[in-house]
Amino acid sequence: MTPQNMAAQSPPSSLTIRNPATGSVVGTVAVTPVAEIDAVVARARAAQPAWAALGLDARAACVKGAIATLKARAGEMGALACAEMGKPLKEAIGEAGYANDSLGQEIDEIVAALRVELLEDEKTSTRLLFDPLGVAAVITPWNFPILMPTQSVIPALIAGNTVVFKPSEVSPLSGDLWARCMIEVLPPGVLQIIHGDGVQGSALVRSAVDLVVFTGSRATGAAIMRDASAGLKRLLLELGGKDPLIVLEDADIKAAAQFAVRNSFRNAGQVCVSTERIYVADKVADAFVQAVVDGARALTQGDGACETTQIGPMASARQKKIVMDQLRSAIADGAKCVVGECDGANPSEGNFIRPTVLTGVTHAMSIMRDETFGPVASIMRVSSDAEAVALANDSPYGLGAAVYGSQARATRVADQLTAGMVGINQGCGGATGSPWVGARQSGLGFHSGKYGHRQFAQVRSVSRAK
Ligand code: NAD
Repeated sequence: MTPQNMAAQSPPSSLTIRNPATGSVVGTVAVTPVAEIDAVVARARAAQPAWAALGLDARAACVKGAIATLKARAGEMGALACAEMGKPLKEAIGEAGYANDSLGQEIDEIVAALRVELLEDEKTSTRLLFDPLGVAAVITPWNFPILMPTQSVIPALIAGNTVVFKPSEVSPLSGDLWARCMIEVLPPGVLQIIHGDGVQGSALVRSAVDLVVFTGSRATGAAIMRDASAGLKRLLLELGGKDPLIVLEDADIKAAAQFAVRNSFRNAGQVCVSTERIYVADKVADAFVQAVVDGARALTQGDGACETTQIGPMASARQKKIVMDQLRSAIADGAKCVVGECDGANPSEGNFIRPTVLTGVTHAMSIMRDETFGPVASIMRVSSDAEAVALANDSPYGLGAAVYGSQARATRVADQLTAGMVGINQGCGGATGSPWVGARQSGLGFHSGKYGHRQFAQVRSVSRAK
């Protein structure tokens, strides 16, 4: 018996998912044996030509067939997401509601982006066609377990690809329910789900897929690039961030502090575009720090299932350790903990970390260099706009950024930032049709918006003389 046969015959192990707030078991999923992944991809390959042949409009109509079920089950999906990764129930249901309510419009936008486009000059007429790439692997993280598959799987399907989807091993249950609602309305083999961790993820990337759509950490993105390089597979990587917030001396300090509190602590800081570094003008720093500290103190932390909870736990013990290591190291190197998880005397239990405000941080500290992904607001004073810009740009990351100040001055500062998405007196999310995009090592390729949707397809130009 070959080792491959042995693996194929061994019973699948399972993942037991525990609520990070309470430790109770939420559910289990069977892990897909690595030896079965090639067969899953072969099924996707076999289903792809007929799915592509349906044409853009019929594929879109087919996918839209899932919307009613997705909407009807949004509450159930949200409850699962809350239980398996800890976010407040209202936010989890909000995530499912947002993803499912906007799906019809999103599908229409994808269809519009993928229609044939005509280019003409005096001599030549060219049609731009957006063809399927083939089989897409979609691999997602745990922090938005419903929104992430929506943003990745749907454009891949509408473009005529078939999809093998692997949700995170930390929060597979809500993704599994989402995928089952979709699979119900799709022809067999067009969408399949596999479960497991990086072992399954890496095997999927190395299998005969044509496109890898990945959302997750920069380190895993780099591993995926290595695994995909032999086959020169198409990659769409949405990676981590270390988003700066700049507060200028003419900013509305109350509004800036409210934003800092919301964007540093929302989802317990486990958002790719969380505010992770704050640069505040010396003149207004005391008032700003005080307002952020007051805001942090006012937050209610607990089990996401409680109605009063605003901040849940870290999604896992692993995530708590990453954040605590950075916090301890910053404090040991001279950072001042003004409020929160400040010392060993009264540590939070389990996977919880109190909303924490640090001052006196420097760029020598990992808390200002590496992604934290936890409820920490790290604040540095700056003496000029130029210093704020230089510090904000001093990072290998470049996902989002925000600037608070008078419109003209904040716009001048915003225009000097190296980031994919910049918000002026608001978060970094753009108007409908904007791309979701990272600069530098926060991503490769991007999704959403006309140009993002087109990255799930192979562009082909067909030209003739006029
Ligand atoms: P992660 O990179 O640890 O895991 C993400 C997914 O990749 C999981 O499904 C995991 O099983 C899989 N995986 C792990 N190793 C793999 C490998 N070698 N090959 C293939 N797949 C592999 O990330 P995470 O901890 O789940 O999520 C948090 C990260 O996601 C943060 O860095 C955050 O900033 C990022 N994120 C980015 C965006 C964005 O839009 N840019 C959105 C959400 C989250």
